[in-house]
Amino acid sequence: MTPFVIPFFIAHQGCPHQCVFCNQHAISGNTSGKVTAAQVAEEIAQKLAWPRSSGRMVQVAFYGGSFTGLPLSQQQELLAAVTPYLATGQVREIRISTRPDFVSLEIIDHLKSFGVSLVELGVQSLDDEVLQKSGRGHTVAQVEEAFALLKAGRMQIGGQLMVGLPGDSRRKALNSARRLAALKPDLVRIYPTLVMQGSPLAASFTKGLFRPWSLGLCTAVCSSMKDIFDRQGITVARMGLQSCETLEQDLLAGPYHPAFGELVLSRQYYKKLRAILFSAQKDARGQRLTLRLAERDRSLFTGMNKENMGRYQRRALLNNVEVVFTPNQRRFTVEVS
Ligand code: SF4
Repeated sequence: MTPFVIPFFIAHQGCPHQCVFCNQHAISGNTSGKVTAAQVAEEIAQKLAWPRSSGRMVQVAFYGGSFTGLPLSQQQELLAAVTPYLATGQVREIRISTRPDFVSLEIIDHLKSFGVSLVELGVQSLDDEVLQKSGRGHTVAQVEEAFALLKAGRMQIGGQLMVGLPGDSRRKALNSARRLAALKPDLVRIYPTLVMQGSPLAASFTKGLFRPWSLGLCTAVCSSMKDIFDRQGITVARMGLQSCETLEQDLLAGPYHPAFGELVLSRQYYKKLRAILFSAQKDARGQRLTLRLAERDRSLFTGMNKENMGRYQRRALLNNVEVVFTPNQRRFTVEVS
């Protein structure tokens, strides 16, 4: 069962940097500023009372910003607000997100003493030129060092990647995915680069110095990145930003779609079927084939706005093929006879 996450967005607090894409206030939807310990305690109590949290593993997540860049006293206050719920077992895990260069042995010890078990690193790219052009202020070597420290501290690690940053390309994005997979994170999130009002990227975009990737390119590259993580058994916990009103208001340009993850999954599904059908049709030598798919994969099969149907048709992939959807079939499995 998926965990029940109680999220807190630490919008830009604790971060002295200005990455070119960053407009944390718009992305997180939190425009009210600082999150306080009292708010954390109150929100947890409220969410634990929701029927939806009952019987599920509850996680408290401090997203956004750079948690370990906050003053130590503020980190302690926020984490201590979760302690009573950890002690009773009502909350099982705390996760935080931060920058790779804000990780040290002391920081890890401190996080562990408050029960933090997962650290998500804003890796964004594993290409030094892309990191530099994106104003990240850290290098690939610092990402690798942060992974090594967190592994030594027996922390679970999440890695966030962005595609379509300044200087990025299909080759570089796939290479970043391969390099991240080699570091063996426990989970990964992949985000398209969007141009948000008020970010440095917005100024470059307005001057014609930055062109965001198209939705089609971004979807295709993300589906290949997901293939890489799937092959290594690494969970891709999210693809695309959570849609919210503030984000949509502040979005200036870029490959945004409220169901971006679904677009990527249906693209990935199409590629898988294409490979299976090519080879099955070759072996069948003109005989009729039956393709059995899980009923719950029907929307992935057709694709958003029937996009995949057009792809099958253009390549004549479903000629002489009967497609049967089976209610009890395991998701993402394909049987051909
Ligand atoms: S490190 Fe994170 S919070 Fe800081 S500027 Fe970059 S994206 Fe924004």
